[in-house]
Formats: sequence, structure tokens, C-alpha cells
Amino acid sequence: MRLLTRISDVQRALDKEREAGRRVGFVPTMGFLHEGHASLMRRARAENDVVFVSIFVNPLQFGANEDLAAYPRDLDSDLSLCETERVDVIFHPNVDEMYPDPNPFRVTVGEIGSKLCGRARPGHFDGVATVVAKLFNIAGPCRAYFGRKDAQQLVIIERLARALNFPVTVVGCDIVREPDGLAMSSRNIYLNGEERRAAVVLKRALDEAAAAIGSRERDARRIGNLMGSRISSEPLAKLDYAAVVDAETLEDLDRLDRPALLAVAAWVGKARLIDNTTVTPEGASSEGSS
Ligand code: AMP
Repeated sequence: MRLLTRISDVQRALDKEREAGRRVGFVPTMGFLHEGHASLMRRARAENDVVFVSIFVNPLQFGANEDLAAYPRDLDSDLSLCETERVDVIFHPNVDEMYPDPNPFRVTVGEIGSKLCGRARPGHFDGVATVVAKLFNIAGPCRAYFGRKDAQQLVIIERLARALNFPVTVVGCDIVREPDGLAMSSRNIYLNGEERRAAVVLKRALDEAAAAIGSRERDARRIGNLMGSRISSEPLAKLDYAAVVDAETLEDLDRLDRPALLAVAAWVGKARLIDNTTVTPEGASSEGSS
């Protein structure tokens, strides 16, 4: 396993792999790696010859009042997880390496970046799209792996690849959860014991909505309200949004007459948590939620 910090070294190393006919699978991360990240690496390992992982806390995707400085970091533990998952090359650049210009050139994703999480985090998805575009150009991957936990991010990256003609296949991977259902996230470390127990309310809200859809509820507003009031019933949670949107366009739905994304976001203590599930019009959850 090689740990590289310079863009030119990564380009040289991966050019050589591609010249030898080897396919590169890419897993972009911000580090503080957990089982969710590991599942992406495993999939990349199974489907490619070379597994490339980036570990970079991207300042462009953090707002002025967000947790950039506090974002958890633990490179030693990240390296040992990568070693276990048989990663070949790790890229861990510093901010100057990625953004030598103090006012960097950016990709703008347009309206889709203002929906859902974009409402509370203006500019966030432009920052995500910018770093991913750079990393695609640096790595030249054949396939790139993203978690469905960040469902809006996945939709936007799929669009980015199509819109800017990146020769990469974007692969969406299922959400990995704690035994009680909480979606794994690096930010879960912010939760104290009580908050950690409260945080499961996001998954519970999704499960209740999926159950209502299973019982033929098709009114999107009622489903959204059901999720919102479940989350608001938890005193330690502060609801950001509970939305029922078209799974591809992320436009609000009136009725569940096509594949829908049920998406929730809430603050629990210092952590802003998100979760989601996709449902088909028949009501069957793509993730197998009840
Ligand atoms: P992050 O380090 O949080 O930026 O995440 C890096 C990648 O891992 C993103 O594609 C995330 O969607 C994915 N990811 C994070 N948590 C999970 C999870 N619990 N299950 C599946 N994928 C995840």
C-alpha cells in the first residue's frame, strides 16, 4: 500500500497501472473511516485491479459556520483500515496541494444543489462537485464508489459525470448501519451517550414512512409530516427537513407514483445527521426497510 501526498505522484502511479491495462476503482473519503467506507473499498476491490482511496477533508464543501476545524481526523487508524481492505494507493494531500489558488475555480451544480441539504448548506454541493471533478482528473478511475447515505451527493455526482463527460462509472453502494439502525457516519463521534440513543429516531421515522407506504399511503405530504413529527417527538433532535422527492430529480412529489427518495436531516447535539431510503411505487424499499 502506497501513501501519496502529491498530485503528480498519483498521476504517475495510476498512469502506469492504466498503461498496463489495469482498471482503477476509486473511493473518495474525508477520512475517520468506518465500516461504511470499508464496504465501498470492498466493492472496489472486488470489481477492479487497483483500489485507490483519497482521504481529504475538503474545505470547499464546508460553510463558514460548519465543523471544518472540528471534523474528526485519525490518519493512523484510517491507514490500518485501508491496509485491511487491501487498498493499493492512498492519496492524502494537504489543502495547498489541492487548492493552490486562494480563490479556487469551482464547478457549479445549479438548482439541484439548493434542494434538501443544499437549503441549509449553500455552496456545499459546488464544493463537493469541485473536489470530485479534480479527483476524477487526478486518478482517472474506471469506476468510482459513493454511498447512498449521501443520496443527494450521489445523484449530483452521477450528473456531474454525465454533464462533464467523465469516462467513469459511478457506483452507488448501500447504507451501512449500526445494529440499532443508525447510519454510520464520521460525525456520529460528536454524539454523547444520550444523543447517540436519540439519533436512532431518523431511521425510525424512515421505517414508519416505509410502513405507511406499505399500507398504501400515497400522499407525499402526509408521509413527510409523519417523518417530521416522529423526529420532532424526540426532545434531543432538531428537525432540519423530512422530504419525499423524486429519486432522480429530487423534486418534491405530491403523490408516490414513481420511485421516491424519503430523506431526513436533523441536528442531534453538535451533529447534523442525515438518512434516507428509496421506495418504489409498489412500496417496496430498495434497502429492505420494513
Ligand atoms: P465521507 O468520508 O463522509 O465524505 O464519505 C465518503 C463516502 O463514504 C461517501 O460516498 C459516503 O456516502 C460513503 N459513506 C459514508 N457513510 C456511509 C455509510 N454508513 N454507508 C455507506 N456509505 C457511506
